[in-house]
Amino acid sequence: MESVPGTEDVFPEESARWRAVENCARAVFDRYGYGEIRVPLLERTEVFERSIGASTDVVQKEMYTFEDRGGRSLTLRPEATASVVRAVLGRGVGQGPWRLHYMGPMFRNERPQKGRYRQFHQIGVEAIGGVTAATDAEVILMLCDILRDLGLRKTRLLLNTLGSPEDRAAVVEAYRAFFAARLDAMCEDCRRRYRTNVLRILDCKREDCRRAVAAAPDVSSVVSEASHDEFRRTVSLLQAAGLAPEIEPRLVRGLDYYVHAVYEVVHEGLGAQDAIAGGGRYRISPGGTTSVEGSGFALGIERLLLALDAEDARPPGTPPPDAYLVSPGAGDLDDNFRLAHELRNRGLRILMDIEFRSVKSQMRRAHRSGAIAAVVRGGEERSAGFAVVKRMDSGAEQRVPEADLASALRELVGRRQAAAHRAGDGDTPC
Ligand code: AMP
Repeated sequence: MESVPGTEDVFPEESARWRAVENCARAVFDRYGYGEIRVPLLERTEVFERSIGASTDVVQKEMYTFEDRGGRSLTLRPEATASVVRAVLGRGVGQGPWRLHYMGPMFRNERPQKGRYRQFHQIGVEAIGGVTAATDAEVILMLCDILRDLGLRKTRLLLNTLGSPEDRAAVVEAYRAFFAARLDAMCEDCRRRYRTNVLRILDCKREDCRRAVAAAPDVSSVVSEASHDEFRRTVSLLQAAGLAPEIEPRLVRGLDYYVHAVYEVVHEGLGAQDAIAGGGRYRISPGGTTSVEGSGFALGIERLLLALDAEDARPPGTPPPDAYLVSPGAGDLDDNFRLAHELRNRGLRILMDIEFRSVKSQMRRAHRSGAIAAVVRGGEERSAGFAVVKRMDSGAEQRVPEADLASALRELVGRRQAAAHRAGDGDTPC
């Protein structure tokens, strides 16, 4: 049976790459002092309605919302910012500043296609409390550090400012005035957006609408001088750190809560769904009363992996086993089972056959597994307290006393790592 459309099963050869991405991100978050928060997948629906904005596509069309048996409206989280802010409000924003990261699945009822799923996964950051232009820059740097450490090169960082919440009325007014005379040539969605959320028109992908948008004023031409200063500071901090953000004067984002700096990282190898990550400064009030300012990004793991594929910059998969333990007779199995357990507890990666296959078949599996060595241990070896270590590359054999087996295998592992390093493919990202 197939999985639900828009959801995917991830098998070990792929999930190893996911883990590499997650570990890389964790290493970056550790360097910046951002701790992990784990928030529920389920929230009260109003948490998202109040935060993301009732007129956004996410809230209007894409949420998986249902009534539970108690008649409460619950929603599978379409993003995590609202949940994180709700959680932080519960503890007290004043207990912060909060510097948090998260990773996990999000759910949106979108039309599935390459790079767009109904269950997808994000790695994200939320800095809440004490947020300044430097916080925005720090959050963006973390995102770019992750992409760089993974070996991604063909990305562009697109940056814009939406101005302060106080600028919002003037920005909306300016776009209303501009699009009013052009509505006839625009799509039905944009005519609705004109009434409900005029900034979203800037994001429309239809040809006619894009023509109108191309002539529209820049958001930044409408915002106050103080907002400009705030934005310039973020840009100059990023430039001083060696980044080259591109100012994209019509960049807006799909969620309503953004203010000041907003950004996207796009990748040229991805086609229509080219945004790997997006973020910005936000003001949110998930409880409907206290409003909280934060700064964060969300990076889509599936799209990031597609981008890595497009650049052939594959993060490392699961390392192969160190050794494959071969039992020549069925009677050898139990004691070899014990030995495998011992070796694993000493930090070695050991595979063994527990299905009574022939020695030939076990050796074939040992080869296929990528193990450095096969450890053959039958009745004769066991009674003499030895094992035969056979290197898979050269076929060279060595009799090793059982007590020295772990250190002998560790030495082989060390040699393989050194050789890989010399060949240049041992430089694992992060
Ligand atoms: P957003 O939460 O909409 O700002 O999206 C942030 C990032 O999450 C995007 O840049 C994508 O990488 C990823 N993303 C958002 N929606 C989807 C989806 N339906 N399928 C896969 N990835 C997604």
